[in-house]
Parts: sequence; structure tokens; C-alpha cells
Amino acid sequence: MIWNTDFEALDGAAMSCHQAEKLGKLVDVLYRRVPFYHRKMDEAGVKPQDIQDISDIVRLPFTTKDEMRDVYPYGLLSVSLQDIVEIHTSSGTTGTPVVDAYTAGDIEVWAEVMARTLSAGGTGRHDIVQNAYGYGLFTGGLGVHYGARKIGATVIPISGGNTKRQLAIMHDFKSTVLACTPSYSLYLAEAAREEGIDPSKVGLKAGFFGAEPWSQSMRGEIQQQLGLLAIDIYGLTEIIGPGVAMECEHQEGLHINEDHFYPEVIEPSTGKVLPDGQKGELVITTLTKEGTPVLRYRTRDITYLERAPCACGRTTARMHRVLGRTDDMLIIRGVNVFPSQIEEVILKVEGIEPHYQLIVERRDQLDELEVQVEMNEGLFSDEIRNLERTEKKIEADLYATLNIHTRVRLVEPKTIARSEGKAKRIIDKRQA
Ligand SMILES: [Zn+2]
Repeated sequence: MIWNTDFEALDGAAMSCHQAEKLGKLVDVLYRRVPFYHRKMDEAGVKPQDIQDISDIVRLPFTTKDEMRDVYPYGLLSVSLQDIVEIHTSSGTTGTPVVDAYTAGDIEVWAEVMARTLSAGGTGRHDIVQNAYGYGLFTGGLGVHYGARKIGATVIPISGGNTKRQLAIMHDFKSTVLACTPSYSLYLAEAAREEGIDPSKVGLKAGFFGAEPWSQSMRGEIQQQLGLLAIDIYGLTEIIGPGVAMECEHQEGLHINEDHFYPEVIEPSTGKVLPDGQKGELVITTLTKEGTPVLRYRTRDITYLERAPCACGRTTARMHRVLGRTDDMLIIRGVNVFPSQIEEVILKVEGIEPHYQLIVERRDQLDELEVQVEMNEGLFSDEIRNLERTEKKIEADLYATLNIHTRVRLVEPKTIARSEGKAKRIIDKRQA
């Protein structure tokens, strides 16, 4: 189901033309109204009239999260505060939060791109959307809410947490669509089974999962346990919240709403733009945003782009599911390791639950990675010998994928902490 064929199935040349026009206007506004960007453009030696074509975007400066923090709270506003109708921020758990201020027009765009997102996974007017993303300053809750409203679906704004109540509502109101983090969906499935409910039989048909990187194996687990189509969605507060990109039913990369968000992939250390298909850091420019537009935002998410048309009929550029974040990337004895690579390997092993934790320590100047993996009840009751064999097998599989030696430790069922929001997978003791 394509919500907006005019833009989602626009041909490449027409899209570039649309993007160039929007970028030209954006740069003009930023240069005139936002001192932060005026200064940055002067420093980069570029004037608004230099931007004639979308390919001219490489002349513009990047924007980093730290820079956005430095101008907290209103330094990126490009309209009068009177024209702002809603404000969200990033969590601020790692420092000053980043502010996303929306005009009425921005909220309309947000609803539009989220309507596209939910439609891409088959959500329609008849659906009941259980929205277990947090409502509040976090963008997940209201983003899904606005999209579901725009489609005309019924939205249940239950927000995150309170797992027993989630299950009761799901059953009583006959929810057909679930929106939450991937790790929380598995926690819901586990809690359902503990109450004697088969989570694959509750009637969910689609789930929209984002806000943390997850692997293809994790998707398999979620689809099987909850009996639904698990759709990966992508967004970030610095840009708009969810709604930047989403998978369609073919699940072969996330379609970027590139009439609003222009994507590039760069080599993180040099800032050089990489050709399609090459892995690097995703950079996004908000082409149409009015409140707090952002030029070439460095997302720190690692992915690659693909522009071949998709079987669904959409022609928009696609990004591969996020492989990891530059700041989640572990460097173990000089090798780059992403938690999602480890997840992909361990979830293929018989008797393993989709709950794990990575502990990094430095012993005698050497990095050591311990992978704690939860067993299911079946494996747990098995002979010690078989447990040891499983540990060795996972260690060998990890070595084959990562080329580093790890220590795998199977832990008892339900001992790894569950998360109602974003899962915390890494405990890095090297920084302590
Ligand atoms: Zn598609």
C-alpha cells in the first residue's frame, strides 16, 4: 500500500529537480535567518547562490550533534518562536538535549511521512494501532500517533511500559498493529506466554519497530513469536523523529522519504561522499523543515544506499537496515564490532533466547569481549557437556564472522535485564 504515489513513486530526474528546488530555498532561509548557519557557510566559503543543483550539496558544511547542543535551546530556529506549535527533544541522557521545534507545517509533514510509514506495512483505516512508544518529549509516541490519525486508523495511545496492561489492552481491544522498540516486542511476547497466552494468536498482523538497531535474525524471532510482519522504521529527533525511512512489505531496505530528507553516505573520518552500495555514515538534510532545519546532519548511523527500483513500486532511495552506530561500535583489539553482528550469529543457534549482553574488559593491556547469552528452558535442563558444546560452537561462529576470539557464557533463562524502551546491550568496563 503506497500512501503517496506522487512522491513515493516519482521518477529519479523529477525527484532530483524537486530536491534542488527545496535545497535552494532552504539554504537561502538559513543564510538569512540563522546566525549559526550564516557563520558556518561563511567559514565554508559558500553562498546561497552557489547552490543550483542537488549535487552542489557537497559544498555545504556538515552539522554535528555537539554543534546542535551548543546552540541549545533556540539557536537553530529559522522562524519566529510564535510560529512554533510543538517542541520535542532528544533524551539528554548523554548531555544537553537537542531541540526539535515544529511549525504547524512541520507537524503536517510528520503526519504525512508517518502515514507513509504505517501504510508501507499494510496499516489502513480499519486497523487498531497499539502505540507502545513513549509519549512525551520523545518523538516515537506522537510520531506514530499523528501518522495513524492521518490514515484514519484507531490509535490506542498506551505509551511505553506497564506490560500486563499492554497485554490486557491488546486482547480486549483486538489490536492489529503494534508499535514499539524491537526488544520490547520480545518482552511482551515472553510476558504473554507467562500468562498462558500464545502471542502469535492475539491477532497482530504488523509491527513497526525502531529506535534501536536490530538484526535480521531478531526480525525472524519477532515475526515467529508474535505472528506478524515486522517492519523496520527509521528516524531521529534531530531530523523529525520517526518517519525518515521505512521498509515496505518486501523488507529489502528502508525507503527514504527523500522528497523531505536528502540522504548521503560519507566516509566518517574524511567526510568524503561514498558511492551507493558502500558502507559509511548516513548524513541527512531536512529539505522542507521550517522550525529547526538541519544541513547535512551526521547521524552516526552506519548503512549504505541503494537506488534500484523496489518490487513494491516505490522509486525512492533505500538505506540498508542500520548496521550500528559509530558510537556503539566496539573496537576490540583493533577490530570494529557492532552488537548487531553478534546478535545475527547467536540467534541462529538452537536453544538460545534473543536476550544477550556484551561485556568488554581490558586485561593485561588486551581487550576481552564476553558475550552473555540467555538459554531457553530446554537447553538449561540439558547436560553440562551439551552446554559447554553450545558455548564452544557460538565462540567458533563468532570467530568466523568477526575474526576475534570471544568468551561466550550461557546464562540461566530470564537473568538478563529486560527493557521497556531501548535495550542496553553493552557494558564497557574499559572506560571505568
Ligand atoms: Zn519497497
